[in-house]
Amino acid sequence: MVLDDLGSSLRGTLDKLRGKSRISEEDVDEIVKEIQRSLLQADVDVSLVMDLSDSIKERSLEEEPPGGTSARDHVLRIVYEELVGLVGDSTEIPLESQTIMLAGLQGSGKTTTAAKMAWWFSKKGLRPAVIQTDTFRPGAYDQAKQMADRAEVEFYGDPDADDPVQIARDGLEATADADVHIVDTAGRHALEDDLISEIEEIESVVEPDRSLLVLDAAIGQGAKDQARQFDDSIGIDGVAITKLDGTAKGGGALTAVDETGSTIAFLGSGETVQDIERFEPDSFISRLLGMGDLKQLTERVERAMEETQEGEDDWDPEDLMKGEFTLKDMRKQMKAMDNMGPLDQVMDMIPGMGGGLMDQLPDDAMDVTQDRMRNFEVIMDSMTEAELENPRSIGASQVRRIAKGSGQSEDAIRELLDQHKMMAQTMKQFQGMGDGDMQRMMKK
Ligand code: GDP
Repeated sequence: MVLDDLGSSLRGTLDKLRGKSRISEEDVDEIVKEIQRSLLQADVDVSLVMDLSDSIKERSLEEEPPGGTSARDHVLRIVYEELVGLVGDSTEIPLESQTIMLAGLQGSGKTTTAAKMAWWFSKKGLRPAVIQTDTFRPGAYDQAKQMADRAEVEFYGDPDADDPVQIARDGLEATADADVHIVDTAGRHALEDDLISEIEEIESVVEPDRSLLVLDAAIGQGAKDQARQFDDSIGIDGVAITKLDGTAKGGGALTAVDETGSTIAFLGSGETVQDIERFEPDSFISRLLGMGDLKQLTERVERAMEETQEGEDDWDPEDLMKGEFTLKDMRKQMKAMDNMGPLDQVMDMIPGMGGGLMDQLPDDAMDVTQDRMRNFEVIMDSMTEAELENPRSIGASQVRRIAKGSGQSEDAIRELLDQHKMMAQTMKQFQGMGDGDMQRMMKK
């Protein structure tokens, strides 16, 4: 993820401010240096970095922290606001009928992004169609078709045709029933005149509501020329950054945003159609800084719930932060997580659980593999309501009874109880994490 190590290095530096009510110039210098180092490593343009650090420095020293705010929270809030300013707003993508055209160099991730976006729109209740006009890259048709199938969305392409403009025209006609048309275009290794004139022609036929530039997160400052040329020819309304799972960079994409006067629309972080999210500056930065992101988590949980058809378990992740963590909570959580993807990613989204805290936990604290989950399920089925609500009441004789009832060994029961204890402790740890005010401030 972009600026991946910023959160942890910054947390370390900020922690030195704990207990202080005023901040010194040296403190600010140290923090600004950390931020500069991370941003430059992530390929963010030097002048953008300098502007940002000046602003953080000035504001930290000059602005009066609101009453009761610690020096640490004061600086953290300023850093947060400035970083949100740096990444800019999110491109507006209304949930309505529209045509979106994708542009970018070959290999940037256009075809993948087209299918991902279609999947995203379909989850929002719209009916998307992907139109593949790439006649240049061998295999583009098959790949696009396969991905659209995986996303379970409508697809149009013509492997035998060689005129992309005609394919675009036919595609729009053939998929006229769809609400959202996503038109994928051909890329080249470098920007060549024939690519530019081809894409301009497609644009004039498609008349897109928005054109998005697809950029590999690892692109670096080469993004600048590319962005300008695409912007000059078709006008770029937003950027989709791909392959964020593979790089700690991403600064080049910010340069492209700057160059085109556009904003970031989507983030891609994997090869499957679900690995896409809307870019949301505040949640993106709070996650980066390890402040978690409840909104994202809630969305994922909702999706997971829909998919498991476990609607009656109206489990709210915020419940995790309140009260006692029972075996019932653990069971619901395991079910939901089964559908949400890797646990560490989910945990990164919970306030206070990002980066640092996960590293401090024993390796197996959150290691609930599918097999173990299934055994745990069976065991829990043999427990009484009272035991599920209050696992501490389970003594040796209950362990024996549950083992017999579930056909599992007594060790397996004890393992479940240990796992629950570890998870309960973890939950308590983040319930009790400081910065309560800060988190409330960040949660809009
Ligand atoms: P195009 O030439 O612009 O259409 O690019 P493709 O969509 O074919 O993507 C090029 C390669 O990058 C493919 O192997 C994709 O699977 C891969 N790819 C695309 N997006 C992502 C991403 O977000 N993460 C990862 N790891 N790979 C990606």
